[in-house]
Amino acid sequence: MRFMARFDPIFQTALHEMAQRHTRRVLRPVRPMGAAIVVRDGRELVNFSSNDYLGLSHHPALAARAAQWLEEAGTGAGASRLVTGTSARHMAVEKRLATFKGAEAALLLASGWQANASVLAALLRLAAAQGAPPLVFTDRLNHASLHQGCMAAGVRQIRFRHNDLDHLDDLLLRHADDAGMRVIVTESVFSMDGDRTDIGRLSAIARQHGAFTYVDEAHATGVLGPQGRGLCAGHDIDLVMGTFSKALGGFGAFVAGSQALCDWLVNACSGFVFTTAPPPAVLGAMDAALELLPALDAERARLTRNAEHIRDVLRACGLSPGPSTTQIIPVMMGEATRALAFAAHLEEHGILATAIRPPTVPPNASRIRLALSAAHTDAMIDQLASTIPAALRACS
Ligand code: PMP
Repeated sequence: MRFMARFDPIFQTALHEMAQRHTRRVLRPVRPMGAAIVVRDGRELVNFSSNDYLGLSHHPALAARAAQWLEEAGTGAGASRLVTGTSARHMAVEKRLATFKGAEAALLLASGWQANASVLAALLRLAAAQGAPPLVFTDRLNHASLHQGCMAAGVRQIRFRHNDLDHLDDLLLRHADDAGMRVIVTESVFSMDGDRTDIGRLSAIARQHGAFTYVDEAHATGVLGPQGRGLCAGHDIDLVMGTFSKALGGFGAFVAGSQALCDWLVNACSGFVFTTAPPPAVLGAMDAALELLPALDAERARLTRNAEHIRDVLRACGLSPGPSTTQIIPVMMGEATRALAFAAHLEEHGILATAIRPPTVPPNASRIRLALSAAHTDAMIDQLASTIPAALRACS
C-alpha cells in the first residue's frame, strides 16, 4: 500500500491557520511514575493536569484485578455486547455500578465522549419521534461530547447561562406553551471551572416543568457526594452519566437510570450497539475501583482540604480561582500568552499545569487548569503553593 499526499495542501493550510491563531496543538508524550509524577522531555514534573483525582490509576488492587481478569478471559471481548461480547463480568460490573449510583440499572460504554455523543443523540431522536421536536436546555459550558450528542440528533439547543438555574427556569417558562419533550442537559461539576450545579434545585425545576434530566457526573464520580457517589446521590434524576477515566483511574464510561431506560438503550443507542464490548482487563480495573471507592473518605477529605488551601494561596496573590469549589481549580489568566508564560514558569520549577486556551474556553478566558489529586503529597502541594507567586511575577 502507498499512502498519497495529494490532499496535504488542504491540511497544511488548516494547520498554518491554527498556528497563526496560536491554537495549533501537538502531542507531547509523558512517562508516568506513579499517579502524581510524570517525566516529560527527560524532566520529572509533579502532575497537576491529570484527572486521576484519587490516584487510582496506580492502585495495586486495580492492577491486580485487571491482570487477573485478563489472565482468565483474554485481551479482548471479541464482539459487541449484543453478539457474544457480554460476559458475566460485564453484567456484574453493571450491577455494582447500579448499586453504587442507587439506580435500577446501569450500562457500560466505551468512553465518556462516546456515552454522551451517542446516548444523548438516541434519547433526543426518541423524543423527536413523540411528535414534536424536543426542547433541549443546555448549559453554555457543557462538554463537547454533550454538544456532539445534540448535533448528531439535529436538535437546536436552548442554551442557559453557565450554571444559572434562574435563567434555565426562565427559559423553561418562556417555552411553556411549546409542544415537545423537555430535556435538561448539564454537568454536576464543570470540567474547566470546577464549580458545581445545585442538583437539588435542578431536580425541583425539572419536576416543575416536567423535564427529563441528563446529568454528566464525569468529574464528581468517586470524588463528591456520600462515599463518592456523585452530586446526584439522593436527588431525583432521570439519567446520570459518569466515567471510569478520571477519579476511577481507568477507562470507559457508564450511564445509570431506570431499567426501562437502560433496556431501551441496549436496543437503540448506536454507541452501545455497534462497538466492541469493554475488554476484561479494563473491566477488572472498573470492578476493583467500584469496590474501593466507598472506603476512600480520607482521600476525598484530603482533596477538599488541599483545594481550599490552593484557592487561598491564589487569592492571597490576587489571582482568581474562578467559581471553583472542587478539586478542579482554574487560575484565571485572561490572555492566552499570559497563561502560557505562567505555565512555562511552573514547568521550569517542576510543576506540570496545562494552559487551557480558546477554543476550549471562551476568548480571554485562558487559564491554568489545576487538577488536584489525593496522590499529591504535602510536599507537592507546598511546592505548588510556593511557586505560584513567582509564576505570577514572571507573567506580569
Ligand atoms: N464529560 C466531561 C464533562 C468530561 O470532562 C469528559 C472528559 N474530558 C468527558 C465527558 C469524556 O469522558 P472520556 O474521557 O471518558 O471520554
